[in-house]
Amino acid sequence: MGGILFLEENMAQRQNYNAKMDLKKQQQVAAGLVSDRFPQVTGIVIQMTYYRKGSNPVLMLRTVNVFPTGYAYFNMDCMISGCTDGGFDLTPVIAEMVKKRQRLRKGTLVCSGKNADLASDHANIAYEVTIKFNNKKP
Ligand SMILES: [Zn+2]
Repeated sequence: MGGILFLEENMAQRQNYNAKMDLKKQQQVAAGLVSDRFPQVTGIVIQMTYYRKGSNPVLMLRTVNVFPTGYAYFNMDCMISGCTDGGFDLTPVIAEMVKKRQRLRKGTLVCSGKNADLASDHANIAYEVTIKFNNKKP
């Protein structure tokens, strides 16, 4: 696994400094808290493998732990430099899983970035989402 960056983070503890990140913070706040939006959820673990186009395609393995006190914001940034408006939005995946009380889902997403300098297939992720539920009625 040489050369692969492992990143563990807690979204509630992320600190962002530049303007782009300020916008993201606003979007997170607008999304609301997991405990408000999905009161039946006690925890979400999102595992992602980031791939880029090229001969050394695995860019990063990343695990994001989301707690009820965290934001219900699941639009993950594209890690390719120069891709400013892209990303991988897991919000519909997670919303549907919660609706169906589904505990595990695996899939792939392609970056939605449309920068002219980037190929439309410049980046994708394989994700595995695990959700823990409590016994509250939805
Ligand atoms: Zn991208």
